[in-house]
Amino acid sequence: GIILAIESSCDETSASVVKNGTVLSNIVSTQEVHQKYGGVVPELASRAHQKNILPVVSEALKDAGINKTDLDAVAFTKGPGLLGALLVGTSFAKGMAMALDIPLIGVNHMQAHILAHFIENPKPKFPFLCLTVSGGHTQLVVVKSPLDMEVIGETIDDAVGEAFDKTAKIMGLDYPGGPLIDKFAKDGDPLKFKFPNVNIPDYNFSFSGIKTAFLNFLRKETQKDADFIEKNKADLCASIQYTLIRILMKKLTKAANELNIKEIGIAGGVSANSGLRNTLKEEGNKMGWNVFIPEFEHCTDNAAMIAMAAHYQYEGKDFEKLSTSPNPRLKFTGSR
Ligand code: ATP
Ligand code: MG
Ligand code: FE
Repeated sequence: GIILAIESSCDETSASVVKNGTVLSNIVSTQEVHQKYGGVVPELASRAHQKNILPVVSEALKDAGINKTDLDAVAFTKGPGLLGALLVGTSFAKGMAMALDIPLIGVNHMQAHILAHFIENPKPKFPFLCLTVSGGHTQLVVVKSPLDMEVIGETIDDAVGEAFDKTAKIMGLDYPGGPLIDKFAKDGDPLKFKFPNVNIPDYNFSFSGIKTAFLNFLRKETQKDADFIEKNKADLCASIQYTLIRILMKKLTKAANELNIKEIGIAGGVSANSGLRNTLKEEGNKMGWNVFIPEFEHCTDNAAMIAMAAHYQYEGKDFEKLSTSPNPRLKFTGSR
């Protein structure tokens, strides 16, 4: 089947075409209006999606060399995400499904982040353990098949992407700060500053304490030396990044050992982090894991991953009614 997929859960408007499991195009338009507000403004996101969606979809079809009358189904991100943003993609997809009289497929965004691994080769074998690290989530997931996933642990407060972005903001860096921390960390000493790592039971995570500790530490230091942040930027970035990666790796390793799984991957926007990518490769070598790391363009929000999920749902005839609506807090269900 040939499927058009649309992603509009947050601040990326994206469309992709997949044909029998092969991604033919993936157009991503990142909204820049949010930068000056230091975070995503939901109202502005919806408006930008409305403006971008038609050109992005047209370009995805053109890039794939597909006419819209060739489509067998149209897919959209059903959730989780911002309601107003999700509504734009959902309504657009419904309109197309109705006009072309083809099935409609609703995709879980977090499941799709994981299925980004199935865009490329080699693909992980099942069961596959995936650490999903993004702007709104931090989850350890056992993937039993493309559409059967179980969350075995998650953050009890902030997501790790939020921890990156908030600590960056404290240092006065632009939004989103994650990629900037990554960049400056390359020239810094990861062991220069130490931040407490609270112990959370099971496979769960907590990141709000680190953010507070970082804020308090910088308040104290900048009282003594107003230029402290500027002088220590690289070391601060390297140290905070190192701390966040240690927390992630500790739980990932614990789960891999206890569940005896050796197919290990990362997904979501923070999986673009070079420190995390390198650490996972090193740990994988030591532990004898088969490590899976998505291409950069498939880490942050994109419609190719939505298309991949839609491909599996299409094969299972998992379709939505035209009366469906998005769910900002959509959870994994048994089979979806
Ligand atoms: P969710 O997927 O949970 O709904 P989201 O879709 O907003 O949230 P993503 O687009 O998957 O999140 O990821 C965005 C996050 O990834 C941001 O917090 C951003 O700072 C972070 N990020 C992107 N690149 C890097 C990087 N190189 N290093 C660290 N963090 C990064
Ligand atoms: Mg985004
Ligand atoms: Fe995402």
